[in-house]
Amino acid sequence: MQQAVDGGAPVLRYVPDADELAAGAALFRRPWQFRMGAPALEHLPEPLGPEIAFAGRSNVGKSSLINAVTARRGLARTSNTPGRTQELNFFVAEGVALSIVDMPGYGFASAPKPLVDAWTRLIRAYLRGRVTLRRVFLLVDSRHGVKANDEEMMALLDEAAVPYQVVLTKCDKPGSKALAATLADTAARIARRPAAFPIVLVTSSEKGTGIDELRAAIAGIAASG
Ligand code: GDP
Repeated sequence: MQQAVDGGAPVLRYVPDADELAAGAALFRRPWQFRMGAPALEHLPEPLGPEIAFAGRSNVGKSSLINAVTARRGLARTSNTPGRTQELNFFVAEGVALSIVDMPGYGFASAPKPLVDAWTRLIRAYLRGRVTLRRVFLLVDSRHGVKANDEEMMALLDEAAVPYQVVLTKCDKPGSKALAATLADTAARIARRPAAFPIVLVTSSEKGTGIDELRAAIAGIAASG
């Protein structure tokens, strides 16, 4: 961890050491596989061990990031069809206690209310009841920054007391000044949030930026049991 200055605004950066990077690389050298999808609470699988989850607005780049982190191109579905990915999808790797959970994307303007209500029920119940859930990585598009529905998601996470860490996606898209401004704005917003991890990760699945750091962060969580 170290203090860095981006465009004038001081923000915390996660700088893993060599051992942490090696642990992250080793964890994702394994073949990660799809375990199952849970469309409703009664379908949730028995926890196999600690879990980390990825959440974010539809189209934030969640599937691309999961595929980049696991180095499995087709693991998470990169589908932008509204309503197609309404399940909690569980990924596992042999010999690893950790599970990775892909949470259904939120924020479709056209989503019908019953669908949104079902989503909220499932997510709230999962967040509240899953004692094995160690951290949610909350993805935010670096072109758009934190939106109202991201704030709602943060409120759900705070309410459920689930630790979460914001991950900016698509950092190859904005210019460096705009990216620094988004990073500073995001850091300021999470500073007020009780369950938010203070360090924001910055990633690009396209360019590979921040992927090793995210792997190291996940390996750290896996190691702490
Ligand atoms: P999801 O709906 O959150 O799973 O998002 P996807 O992973 O399907 O990505 C949504 C769109 O953003 C797709 O067109 C991706 O090609 C694009 N995208 C995802 N990650 C990146 C990235 O790191 N950089 C850029 N430039 N585009 C990205």
